[in-house]
Amino acid sequence: MADASPRRAADGVRVIFLGPPGAGKGTQAAKLAAHLGVPNIGTGEMLRTAIARTTPLGREARPIMERGDLVPDGLLVALVRERIAEPDCGRGFVLDGFPRTLPQARGLEEMTGGDPGRWVVFDFEVPRPVLMLRLSGRRWCPSCQATFHLVNDPPQRPGVCDVCGTALVQREDDRESVVARRLQEYDERTFPLIEYYRTRARMVPVDGNRPMDVVFHELRGAVEVRV
Ligand code: AMP
Repeated sequence: MADASPRRAADGVRVIFLGPPGAGKGTQAAKLAAHLGVPNIGTGEMLRTAIARTTPLGREARPIMERGDLVPDGLLVALVRERIAEPDCGRGFVLDGFPRTLPQARGLEEMTGGDPGRWVVFDFEVPRPVLMLRLSGRRWCPSCQATFHLVNDPPQRPGVCDVCGTALVQREDDRESVVARRLQEYDERTFPLIEYYRTRARMVPVDGNRPMDVVFHELRGAVEVRV
């Protein structure tokens, strides 16, 4: 009976991760996408790759990201439109960090031709002091983009990426002054999306201030509910 089976990638699952920086979206989005067998589309990571390759997009985005501002909607919508047109997205995708503004949300609906009624939107909530601690201790591999934390998730050898052996650094935008600006952008421009999706999609509030595997268990359950 098709309608009694769990939601699977073949159903064209579309998942959005909303939440402030440091809430754990990136880690969970990657795990969930792997679990569902669909691509994980992380716009922050795509932009950092463009910066590393000094593409025109990277050159434009770099100073904006270093200030903690959001990159213009038109660039992001074009980036995601191109990515989801690729064949591997035909069975669905997980979006981490997009949309972050109302025009981006509308752009996503337009490019998918879709009513978001069956999309799952995870809304991560984490207290501000916890976000600050997570971001200040975050260390990042500039080569493969793996992420670690000095206290919560340290690499095996201090300062060295477990995956590729590159020296870890602090992301420019994880510095305290920039984090304040990123949180302000979240409050002013991304937070309104919670209200937007509350009536349009299947919103799932997530307490992100719990151990990683506990959070993941909850997310997995939410995408596998019978529909
Ligand atoms: P993230 O890795 O998701 O925290 O993103 C890092 C930075 O990339 C953000 O602070 C923004 O400057 C930029 N960025 C990522 N996704 C978006 C988006 N959807 N809209 C605008 N800027 C974005």
